[in-house]
Amino acid sequence: MAHVRKTACPLNCWDSCGFNVTIENDKVTKVEGDPTHPITLGKICGRGRMLETRANSSKRLLHPLKKVNGSFEQITWEQALDEIAARLQEVKEQHGSTAVLHSHDYANNGILKNLDQRFFNSYGGVTELYGSLCWGAGIEAQKWDFGEAWSHEPNDIYNSKNIIVWGRNVARTNMHFYEKLLEAKKQGAKLVVIDPLYNATAKIADEYITIKPGMDGLLAAGIIKEMFRLGLEDREFIEQFTHGVADLSQLLEEISLAEISEITEVSCEVMTKLAVVYADKPTATYMGLGMQRYKNGGNTIRFIDALVAISGNIGIAGGGANYANLQVGQSFAFEELTLSKRKQNHRQFSIMKQAEEVLAATDPEIKMIVVTCGNPLTQVPDTEVVEKAFTKVPTLVVIEQFMTDTAMLADYVLPTTTAFEEEDFYYSSMYHHYVNYGPKLVASPGETKSDLWIWTQLANRLGFGEDFDFTREEWLQMTLKPLEDKGITLEKLQALHTMELPVEKVPWSDRKFKTPTGKFEFTSFAVQQKGDNGRLTLAVPDESKWNSPKLAEKYPYSLLTIHPLRSNHSQNYHLLGANLKLKVEVAQNIAEEQGLKNGDYVKVWNDRGEVKGYIFILAKAHPNTINIDEGIWKQFGGSVNNLTSSRESDNGLGSTLYDCLVNLEKVN
Ligand code: SF4
Repeated sequence: MAHVRKTACPLNCWDSCGFNVTIENDKVTKVEGDPTHPITLGKICGRGRMLETRANSSKRLLHPLKKVNGSFEQITWEQALDEIAARLQEVKEQHGSTAVLHSHDYANNGILKNLDQRFFNSYGGVTELYGSLCWGAGIEAQKWDFGEAWSHEPNDIYNSKNIIVWGRNVARTNMHFYEKLLEAKKQGAKLVVIDPLYNATAKIADEYITIKPGMDGLLAAGIIKEMFRLGLEDREFIEQFTHGVADLSQLLEEISLAEISEITEVSCEVMTKLAVVYADKPTATYMGLGMQRYKNGGNTIRFIDALVAISGNIGIAGGGANYANLQVGQSFAFEELTLSKRKQNHRQFSIMKQAEEVLAATDPEIKMIVVTCGNPLTQVPDTEVVEKAFTKVPTLVVIEQFMTDTAMLADYVLPTTTAFEEEDFYYSSMYHHYVNYGPKLVASPGETKSDLWIWTQLANRLGFGEDFDFTREEWLQMTLKPLEDKGITLEKLQALHTMELPVEKVPWSDRKFKTPTGKFEFTSFAVQQKGDNGRLTLAVPDESKWNSPKLAEKYPYSLLTIHPLRSNHSQNYHLLGANLKLKVEVAQNIAEEQGLKNGDYVKVWNDRGEVKGYIFILAKAHPNTINIDEGIWKQFGGSVNNLTSSRESDNGLGSTLYDCLVNLEKVN
């Protein structure tokens, strides 16, 4: 008999939706939206609905596998765990615990997924990854400027007079914000979209502004320049609550508006118009997570923050420099869960350069990689080098639901459960501030086991089982400990399924910033104390005609690799049907220059590699712009990261995936 139960989406997404899941004969048969969820209100996207296909797919990994003579063989859990534990022990004794690399990402969310860190900390401390392929440069930028990366709560949008959506196609990636934009427009707000691609969000804008990819920081500089020229800046806010405005003013003297217009390919008139919009408060700015994936990425977000500060749109309802909302995740007891102080040894590799660092490591060499919640072969830049590194390491263990590009290279593949098969909490630090409860809904198929079970078994074998000697209920209670006195308990969350977390709904309304000066910092005092100048710069992407003229001659097109519509990163491509083709989206001028029509087969290449795919012409994309959605698997023509660079952003914590010039030609 079918019955419906509430749970939540586990995917790494802005919206963190509430679900109503239909279950028949211990099987999930349908995933729909939960109309009672306060933010997501019953609507979900195709990626969420596909979780039913993922859970029931015949391609699920159901048994532990070991590679023997180049082929996978099914083994028992006992054998898999005994051999992996013995190898972990051997590596630690012979080379030290940092000879193990833990490659972790956020493919499967759920708070208890973080217990992998507890395992490796108790083991003695391993080589960990720092930074983020996705949003790292922007997070660090906002920490320099505000001291934290916090956003306004979703319904604050209805207080805005003007809304600037900058480099964020919310219609694809943040659908409930899209709904709110429609409502805010109905209530009279004006919507401006700035993006090199004329996307579905741009279609509902009152004004769409096209820009050369990677030049967003410079556009913000131009708007600030116009605000100063027209006397539109918020003098009171600047004088009382900011630090370093003289450095900013001096910097802007170094460039004319006409020069900014030439580089950004945005007219001076548009910059003047935007200066007036920013002064017409409250104006909210909602940034996406793509425009910081450049060498100048941190500076880009810092310049947009500076524009929001100069216009006095900080700490007021309807305003904000909304990029991430880390205060959501900061609500939980991560320290207690992960035991970060337990580790005795420690080494860090950049997540962007993990492959190069594996190949170069000597003291000690990397002898073992354990991959959790990720598919680095598809997601990490410069695929050729990643493949080389992950093939070279003597032991690769991958915990997975499917045979991904990374799992294909593994020595051991351990089959794990989906969110419907285990109890956990779900939240997102990108958008709303509600935590969702997800009960175990169905039995786990085959021999699949939760990540938590795997860590517990390995910990028992390695002699630190007491660190994992808790029931799931106890782990969940531990997670909520800091929230208990605010009335958020496991029992309540189990009953209500979603609860509002106690966060600042309009951050910085008290004007007390978490920076060393206590002010908004145009020039970062913390960075200055470390010996750098901490100032904003007039930086542009590394791979641009301004910084690399010869490269730009050889490779005239800017490549973007935006999030796919039907897959969460690389997660669903194998489920999307056999006729899946890699789509190369090109601006109209490229098609005209190269004599291309829709459906033509082309090669896209640069010095790092190539991919082949089929042309789709974007009539309104910014000239010389190409997009290939990220995440596509090798067997379907990917990965687009064959083309991207492993360089790090200016502040060292983000990727430069979009800082990528390519050429293209038709092939047979
Ligand atoms: S992927 Fe995002 S929008 Fe889609 S169902 Fe999950 S949380 Fe909601």
